[in-house]
Amino acid sequence: MSAAETEKSGTFKGLKLTNTLTRQKEDFRAIDDGNVRLYVCGPTVYDFAHIGNARPVIVFDVLFRLLRHLYGADHVTYARNITDVDDKINARALRDFPDLPLNEAIARVTQKTADQFHKDIRSLGVLEPSIEPRATQHISGMVEMIAALIEKGHAYQAGGEVLFDTQSMPDYGGLSKRKLDEQLAGARIAVDAHKKNPGDFVLWKLSSEEEPGWDSPWGRGRPGWHIECSVMSAHHLGEVFDIHGGGLDLIFPHHENEIAQSRCAHGTKVMANYWMHNGFLQVEGRKMSKSEGNFFTIQELLETDSFGGRMWPGEVLRLAMLMTNYREPIDFSKRKLEEAENLLARWPDPVETDAAPAAEVLDALLDDLNTAGAIQALHALAVEFPRTLPSWMFTRHLPRSSAFIRSRRICLALMRPAFWQPSKNAWRPSMPRTGRKLTRSAMN
Ligand SMILES: [Zn+2]
Repeated sequence: MSAAETEKSGTFKGLKLTNTLTRQKEDFRAIDDGNVRLYVCGPTVYDFAHIGNARPVIVFDVLFRLLRHLYGADHVTYARNITDVDDKINARALRDFPDLPLNEAIARVTQKTADQFHKDIRSLGVLEPSIEPRATQHISGMVEMIAALIEKGHAYQAGGEVLFDTQSMPDYGGLSKRKLDEQLAGARIAVDAHKKNPGDFVLWKLSSEEEPGWDSPWGRGRPGWHIECSVMSAHHLGEVFDIHGGGLDLIFPHHENEIAQSRCAHGTKVMANYWMHNGFLQVEGRKMSKSEGNFFTIQELLETDSFGGRMWPGEVLRLAMLMTNYREPIDFSKRKLEEAENLLARWPDPVETDAAPAAEVLDALLDDLNTAGAIQALHALAVEFPRTLPSWMFTRHLPRSSAFIRSRRICLALMRPAFWQPSKNAWRPSMPRTGRKLTRSAMN
């Protein structure tokens, strides 16, 4: 890729994003307005996705829809991967299908889990990404990238592994702002004797007979966790692309190591120009964990009464998630879901049209995806000026994923990139509206 291609030569369309690389809110300019490219780390498919996994899926769906609105639906490429190589998947395959050959057992686990994930997020009103690459489809690309890293002096073989040599990259740690010597001092885990530096991470590891493996110049083995995203993003979006997203917990080590691999393999200054991270999610004020008994899957929320004694429609889960801005921590609680549901009940049904959005709603979203502000602006329009309610809060295209979903439109932020404008016959109230202002608690 030439230097010119990596420059942000696109026009400023009003979108500002907080870039984790610089810790600043920056004007967004694409490399190419004709093809804005977004990559988000997707699920590792061995178990049901939990409600924390739903947050990046919803947040980056809003970004995807906003980019489509700004640049045109055909000018945005969104890749969200599926990780289907992982030791947790192997363990699950051995547990659930002990009588099947390992490869078959793994395929069963990953297919079943990916199907469930797709079903869950469809209920949350999430558009399909443009591309959904799977790690197992890109093993040869990973082998090539690892070979290139060895060739360029950024990786070495030791102890049955190929490792990335973090000392070979002078500015390793730029995303997380960690310095290598701090990592050394802070290392609580005993240094693996075969590693040159404790921060060195696995690119390839040898597999035993009982483990899945692929042939490589370093023996039959399997890739480490990080290499797949470097390979899949370069394959589908180019060596340098516009936006890379994911949860805050991925900044280190996953995204730091993606950057190290990609930049060292391709010789580029950056991997992606903008890095966006959504905040953590707690449940009822506590960290979600199985041992705490507050661990909930998306499927449980949608289809069982395990959370708050009832099922919750996908539109309510989605709106509750967007009432908190993406970078802030969110406390997922029964009260928040009830607030979201009350809000939805007070919004009228929309009519679909491709007209322009209300400026105050769009302005909020352009300001670093201020969804809380957009919802507030929308609510003001809904209760005071119902004829200006934009339809992109709503959609008719979502499947009724459970009988529990009400007959009203599934109405959530940025369901579609088209918007609604006042016109004579475009709106009919379906229920009485109240003039009540939103309480502060409903917006936080
Ligand atoms: Zn990733």
